[in-house]
Amino acid sequence: MVLKSNASPNSSGRKVIILGGGLAGLTAAKRLIEKGFSVQVLEKREIFGGKVSSWQDDEGDWIESGTHCFFGAYDVLYDLMKEIGAYDSILWKKHELTYTLAKGERFTFGTWNTFSPFHLTPAIIKNGYFKFSEMLAFVKALVPLMIHKDKYPPTQDHLTFAEWAKAHGIKERFLNKMYRPMALALKFIPPDEITAKIILDVTEVFFRIPNASRMGFLKGSPQEHLIAPLVEDIQNKGAILETGVAVKKLVYDGQKITGVELRNGEALNADYVISALPIHNLNQVMPNDMVQQHAELSVLKHFKGVPVISVQIWYDKQITPIDNVLFNPDGIIPVYADLVNTTPEYRMLRGEPFEGKTRFEFCVGPAKELMGRSDEEIVHQIHENICSCYPESSKGATILKSTVVRIPQSVYAPLPGFDDKRPAQKTAVPNFFLSGGFTQQPYYDSMGGAVFSANLAAEALVNSAKEK
Ligand SMILES: Cc1cc2nc3c(=O)[nH]c(=O)nc-3n(C[C@H](O)[C@H](O)[C@H](O)COP(=O)(O)OP(=O)(O)OC[C@H]3O[C@@H](n4cnc5c(N)ncnc54)[C@H](O)[C@@H]3O)c2cc1C
Repeated sequence: MVLKSNASPNSSGRKVIILGGGLAGLTAAKRLIEKGFSVQVLEKREIFGGKVSSWQDDEGDWIESGTHCFFGAYDVLYDLMKEIGAYDSILWKKHELTYTLAKGERFTFGTWNTFSPFHLTPAIIKNGYFKFSEMLAFVKALVPLMIHKDKYPPTQDHLTFAEWAKAHGIKERFLNKMYRPMALALKFIPPDEITAKIILDVTEVFFRIPNASRMGFLKGSPQEHLIAPLVEDIQNKGAILETGVAVKKLVYDGQKITGVELRNGEALNADYVISALPIHNLNQVMPNDMVQQHAELSVLKHFKGVPVISVQIWYDKQITPIDNVLFNPDGIIPVYADLVNTTPEYRMLRGEPFEGKTRFEFCVGPAKELMGRSDEEIVHQIHENICSCYPESSKGATILKSTVVRIPQSVYAPLPGFDDKRPAQKTAVPNFFLSGGFTQQPYYDSMGGAVFSANLAAEALVNSAKEK
């Protein structure tokens, strides 16, 4: 489907084709249409938004690719949202992280409204769960991070976070209860797989910037409150946006890209191409001869996407009043939220108001072993986790509806040793640019990372065009 532009297409500029209509592709399109390029976005699916996409099912309920929390740290995302009038759709939650454990145990990392790192004092001394010796071991382990700040995490990319924690005296229970759900929430892989660098990076940012760990939720669906305003903005400025158009291969003449070949057999010419594809799709569309010529592109075949599952369950009674993100270290639901509490426009079931009850959305992981299980098995296992976390309030709760979304390859897997292989946005092919979470930028594969990488890719393209 071609979305007709409300403005006349910008024909003065040179033509850029952008592969992928997720947040990165749409952001790059905005940046370049505003610089006078002629822009065409090609999106494989029938909707824009990629991993932030959401859609309504046959009963009118919104289904999401996954729960999306807005970390305070993502400045570039908020700049973009302000530009398109979408920032006010974020509802910022109380600045604390609540962990819900088996058998109804709880702890909360709170914050004080003061300068860093003292804003984290309550998290360290008042969480009420970890013993003094565990917190002391944790604080001691972080001394190199406090001294060397952001210079330290890159030096630890050869280790998994579990290896780093063991080498630095962090106790097993602390690792499992605090960091396991955090690693799974961030990148859907556990501490014994994820690189130490990413967890240390995030910890360092949380220490240094008081509002970085604050979380927000949209007041309704990402489609209505983020993707639609972005699409409308770009369309109004004259970009051509197409859904249902899958790119098969980039066309390469031995030195530069001349265009793209589509799966429907058509060919399109372009002066410049930006890839905003997930890593596994990028690897499929790059021609072999181009990859073989450029080491920075051939190394990308080692990058993989992580499987993840998103589940929603509507219950007929309220299980928790907490209006915030929730963590769980003891089951298959490392991070979740009750959307009835967090997301006012989601207080609906089958077109009817749904107040005072529960609409949980769970990120399910690690998902590798669970992908092949039936929806019923997955929902049953989650229900058991919930009954264990909320032994009292879940009594007699009945499931009214559930939905399951499987994403076999979602964000790229940040494994040890990969960080210095992440490519820059400007490639050795003069008119080919990369965006996406796997490219070099500080926010990894996240909404902030998508926008950051797209800004950098667009900037590199503009600079390159100036040189000609
Ligand atoms: C379950 C889940 C929960 C998440 N939670 C959070 C969160 O809480 N906070 C946060 O900041 N981030 C979160 N993320 C990460 C965030 O969604 C992504 O990092 C971000 O959306 C990636 O955007 P992107 O544009 O780089 O890639 P994508 O969104 O993957 O977009 C790529 C687009 O390319 C299209 N495409 C693929 N192949 C082709 C082809 N051959 N031709 C044309 N188009 C093609 C795809 O259909 C897709 O639309 C979450 C991700 C998931 C999966």
